[in-house]
Amino acid sequence: MSDSSSIEWCDTTWNPTTGCDRISAGCDNCYALVMARRLKAMGQAKYQTDGDPRTSGPGFGLAVHEDTLNDPFTWRKPRKVFVNSMSDLFHARVPLDFVRRVFEVIEATPQHTYQVLTKRASRLPKVADKLPWPSNLWMGVSTEDQEQADLRIPPLLATPAKVKFASAEPLIGEVILHDDWIGLDPYRRGEPSLNWVIVGGESGPKARPMSPDWARHLRDQCVSAGVPYFFKQWGSWAPSGWHGIGRPLPGSFFVGDEVDAAGHRVEMVRTSKHEAGRELDGRTWDQFPDTKTLEVASRG
Ligand code: SF4
Repeated sequence: MSDSSSIEWCDTTWNPTTGCDRISAGCDNCYALVMARRLKAMGQAKYQTDGDPRTSGPGFGLAVHEDTLNDPFTWRKPRKVFVNSMSDLFHARVPLDFVRRVFEVIEATPQHTYQVLTKRASRLPKVADKLPWPSNLWMGVSTEDQEQADLRIPPLLATPAKVKFASAEPLIGEVILHDDWIGLDPYRRGEPSLNWVIVGGESGPKARPMSPDWARHLRDQCVSAGVPYFFKQWGSWAPSGWHGIGRPLPGSFFVGDEVDAAGHRVEMVRTSKHEAGRELDGRTWDQFPDTKTLEVASRG
């Protein structure tokens, strides 16, 4: 499989492990699970381990790939690398020693920037002091709704990672960032806080719509706190520009805050990810952490 990536915030994917198990609502429509089944059928060697059918699937059993560990040494140009687009590095069945070796490869290839994203934040406090934390490693947690944000962001912030980020994708419920998570709590100034927030809607046949207000509220919080904000995509549902009330037509939804006294809400319509695009209120939001100053570096 090609290692170039269509993911908007990285150049390349690197999968030293493959396979996973669903653990929260954000996993309901896991694209990797579907992809693994196809890759298994195509005979791809990395996808021949089957997972538990209740939480995983064909070709999606957790597997460790020692032979991929040296891949980053072969990439000549600096890349932004998404680690484990097809797995979760902090899955309980990935041995700590293997996680450490992945981190050591990251440390030994400082020309690349690595983004590690997990839904297993509860494992972080158990292993954080046994791992090197090179400055080219950005550590993130998935925060698809408030419940998961409350569970996953505090253990992330307790790690020594230099860049810490929250990925609110697929955003399936409102997420309010607590002041101390974004450096706005006057009593906790100087404590670790988020350096980047990614927001995206879900795509695919079973995609759930994201209210524009959820994306806006996170943007506004990030702007007021000086935290870089990246709006990745609407996904398969986009605001139509209309407002409505009552029972919508099939293929549309009324969501978010009321936009007038009559109780109208924004109409979301089913479309393609491509058609829906990635503008929020008339512009793209392509901010990344500036690793030198950790201040907003806008490429938008
Ligand atoms: S944690 Fe990620 S890779 Fe694992 S099942 Fe959930 S969405 Fe898929």
